Amino acid sequence: MTGNTLTGIPVSAGISIGQAYLLGEDHYCLIPMQNISKDLVEQEAERLKQAFEKALEELKRIRETIPVEQSEHVAILDVHIMILNDPKLLSTTQRYIHEMHLNAEWALEKGVTEIEKRFEVIDDDYFRERAQELRLLTRRVKNQLIGSPESIKPITSRVILLANNLTPADTAELDASKIMAFATVQGAKTSHVAILARTLEIPAVAGVEGLLTAVQDGDIIIIDGLKGHVVVSPDDDELTQYSDLKYHFEHYRKEVMRHRDLPAVTTDGHKIELFANIELFEEVSAVFDYAGDGVGLYRTEYSYLNRSDLPSEEELFEEYRDLASILAPRSLIIRTLDAGGDKIGQGFEHLEEENPALGLRAVRFCLRYKDIFKTQLRAILRAAQLENVSLMFPMISGTSELREIKKILEETKTELREQSIPFGENMAVGIMMELPSAVMIADILAKEVDFFAIGTNDLIQYSLGIDRTNKYVAHLYQPLHPALIRSLKFIVDAGHANGITVSMCGEMASDPYCLPVLVGMQVDSLSLNPQSIPAIKKILRNLSLHECSNLMERILESDSVSKNNQLIRDNIFKKFPDELMFYSSMLEREEE
Ligand code: PEP
Ligand code: MG
Repeated sequence: MTGNTLTGIPVSAGISIGQAYLLGEDHYCLIPMQNISKDLVEQEAERLKQAFEKALEELKRIRETIPVEQSEHVAILDVHIMILNDPKLLSTTQRYIHEMHLNAEWALEKGVTEIEKRFEVIDDDYFRERAQELRLLTRRVKNQLIGSPESIKPITSRVILLANNLTPADTAELDASKIMAFATVQGAKTSHVAILARTLEIPAVAGVEGLLTAVQDGDIIIIDGLKGHVVVSPDDDELTQYSDLKYHFEHYRKEVMRHRDLPAVTTDGHKIELFANIELFEEVSAVFDYAGDGVGLYRTEYSYLNRSDLPSEEELFEEYRDLASILAPRSLIIRTLDAGGDKIGQGFEHLEEENPALGLRAVRFCLRYKDIFKTQLRAILRAAQLENVSLMFPMISGTSELREIKKILEETKTELREQSIPFGENMAVGIMMELPSAVMIADILAKEVDFFAIGTNDLIQYSLGIDRTNKYVAHLYQPLHPALIRSLKFIVDAGHANGITVSMCGEMASDPYCLPVLVGMQVDSLSLNPQSIPAIKKILRNLSLHECSNLMERILESDSVSKNNQLIRDNIFKKFPDELMFYSSMLEREEE
């Protein structure tokens, strides 16, 4: 790697070469902190309130101008409008005027920092990114305070957009046809800019430290969304090398897309269903665009976020029912809330948790706040009148927890029956296998549920003791670790021995290098980000169950990640020159 190459997280595949366009950093921090006199406090608080109102109007104006074909922005902007409208946000910030007599700009700064601190303890990429959005949103308010309403300067030619971060409002103001690629300092796989880039099928790299100091406006840069690199002012060799890679990748992508509707079946007739993981209702269109067999994981937490109240049963029911009817006859697996009170905001005691990832989240949270849980269960059960709906519980650690949850599910069904409210009596109920304790008793759990879905994002985190959001230990995040392979094999065998299906819905399911191993251990289905489905299908269609089973046997005997990587490379990937070129294996990631 040369000195002019920065590394971040690849969040949308592809290569782009072009001119950098830097979106400026904030300038409001230049406003000095002032103490205002007591008699001006009310006036200052009113000034802040009006700035909020004007920023809101600005957002609403942007929302009105969004063309229909960019409807993905609308829902997100609505959420942002809701955040700015939240009286708690205004009152938290105004408190600094009332109590500390700070000027409005600094009261806002302090108030937002206070809220951010509460977000920071949450061990989840998605929520950290939402905290960053809150910061960007308040930039609009600050710009109103200092009288310089901000708007992105018009982009006249096609550029690569670089920014600290981008909110949906920012991206909605952009002319998408002019953006060749994105790179941001903040963000990760689930940032809005990442989702947008994948939707637009343009390359993007997030989490690039030092990006805005290393690159000047107008510099020629290369975005490598395959491996997560940003090459600044490339030399001739780099330009040639990346131009070739770009040409080949675009050709490859077209090929892959052309075959997306073919069945996901190996050369010797073994079928594996390929489902999509989605987070937002709007993403459902991607299931059709990329020929997914349905939704294997609907993460439902987002309907609970960025709002001052809880969603009602009716609201959730309509959301789930609409999603199920759009997808029918394809299946929809709805996962119950996988969050803690700190994430879903208002009305919850603020618990000081030392290790939130090991804390009161997911089913643990639901068991403490049974009303919230039951409301969601009622909505899911009602939506399950459509027979394609199944239910899944996250973070199950053992039998007593599972039995307690199933008891609540039964109680909820009884209540619905008594109220003569129709629901899906026969809805399948599965659990996520993402805790080592659940793995060890997979044979017992398998007797009590209809299916398993392996959540490798968490299973790797908890098995290998690696914070999945900590970039300093990211190199230890190894799906091919022998301990993990044994765990996965044990889950699959336990599931099958008890007659239930086993799917995988963690990121591992979209890793081309892991695919032969998953086929070899006979995972029944995979659920992955929709954009990766065609490429995974292409590889799958060129593998045989026979060769993957042989590989699996050798992998089970191997004692290290490196040997596993080498086995996959030597035995399988030699016949996939394209994938070898485009996707980095764990081996290369280790070497970097
Ligand atoms: C997982 O843990 O692998 C998973 C799919 O769930 P999440 O990423 O939402 O925790
Ligand atoms: Mg998980």
